[in-house]
Amino acid sequence: MKIVQKDFRVSTRGRNQMIDITRKVSTVVKESGIADGDAIVYCPHTTAAITINENADPTVPQDILLTLEELIPHSRPGYRHFEGNSDAHCKSSLVGCSEQVLIRDAALKLGSWQAIFFCEFDGPRSRTVVVQVRGQ
Ligand code: ZN
Repeated sequence: MKIVQKDFRVSTRGRNQMIDITRKVSTVVKESGIADGDAIVYCPHTTAAITINENADPTVPQDILLTLEELIPHSRPGYRHFEGNSDAHCKSSLVGCSEQVLIRDAALKLGSWQAIFFCEFDGPRSRTVVVQVRGQ
């Protein structure tokens, strides 16, 4: 089994933003030369996340961000973290810092409506995404 790991940068523009990184992940998979296996897409940050959801209709990521904002408000009595970004930490843990995608015939095995999103919860910032491709 072969393992290839590669990082790329993502620049976010808003405090809360979902950015489609499917093409960047796909490029890492193609360059790895691995035809069958899986890819782990990992975000090494405590106020950001990775998720898979629909990008055919851009209102879907907008509605996800709206729902997260309602569930986890930016400021709330009781938050104690000194940086003032407790909401971003909570959203990061709720959404999760990685996703695993299967690879078949050197391509990501995503459903027709699925995309891989980098989720920013404390931007704008420059962020890192790590992709590890495993297989043969
Ligand atoms: Zn913090």
